[in-house]
Amino acid sequence: MIKGTVIKGVTSTYSVETDAGVRRCTARGKLKLDGDIRIGDNVEISEEKGRYVIEKVLPRKNALIRPYVANVDVCFIVIAPVPAPDYMLVDKIIINAIYCNIVPVLVLNKEDLTDDAFRDSVLSDYIDVTDIIVTSARTGEGVHRLTDYAAGKTACLAGQSAVGKSSLLNAILGGEYLKTGALSEKIERGKHTTRQSEIFTVEGARIIDTCGFSMLEFPFEFNPDELKTFYPEYAEYADGCKFRGGCTHLTEPDCKVREAVEGGKLSRARYDRYAQIYNELKDKWRKRYD
Ligand code: GDP
Repeated sequence: MIKGTVIKGVTSTYSVETDAGVRRCTARGKLKLDGDIRIGDNVEISEEKGRYVIEKVLPRKNALIRPYVANVDVCFIVIAPVPAPDYMLVDKIIINAIYCNIVPVLVLNKEDLTDDAFRDSVLSDYIDVTDIIVTSARTGEGVHRLTDYAAGKTACLAGQSAVGKSSLLNAILGGEYLKTGALSEKIERGKHTTRQSEIFTVEGARIIDTCGFSMLEFPFEFNPDELKTFYPEYAEYADGCKFRGGCTHLTEPDCKVREAVEGGKLSRARYDRYAQIYNELKDKWRKRYD
């Protein structure tokens, strides 16, 4: 058996990246794209007289919906000075990523348009939350840091429209992305056509153009009391809270997280959004059986 990763699927033909190169495969029996086989899946293939067949899909680390992609390791969350960041979206993408066992990384793009005040405000709010990479798709600054970061991994790009996700992918791929139809997809998108996602491999990094994290709704339900576990920077303070694991950091007495916010050690803006998301979740959670 040969092991590999599905990087592309068109109708019933799959491109599988193996140590010996990319192999075009069909699938055994009832294995179907988007059902049993997804882009990103690690598979075992057999070979007989030059024909390759996917025999088995190996267990997944995660599986996203819209697009159907499996085994994503890293989510690059792209923001830029223009359009002004929607930090609520950023925070929700971070929660989504952590929930899916994906490492979120903040990418501050359009470095060529970034002033110190903007950079400093992003750094002070997120320095303890995620790794931060500064790039400019226009000048090429920092673009290699994305591929360095994703070497040996599968990464996706997320974020609001016009922050430069396609431009970054193009800068990474040296123009190859446009050739493969990203622009036509943008035109087609309005027509509700679905395009199969594709994984682009460059310098050992596998990059997907999107991971469907650009919406403000969570695709899963969770208990609002779990929300704090998606705020990595709260962990070191939460241990000191009077109610420890039971503290939501909102109204309880002797809350060390709130104290750290008051003392300027934790971002006030992130905390205010935390409270807002908590209340949204609480409302939904209460009505979940309605
Ligand atoms: P997407 O919607 O996130 O895929 O964003 P696009 O890649 O389509 O970029 C939106 C606009 O921002 C385009 O006009 C790009 O040329 C521009 N853009 C992207 N990256 C940069 C950058 O690093 N610097 C500057 N100045 N403009 C950029």
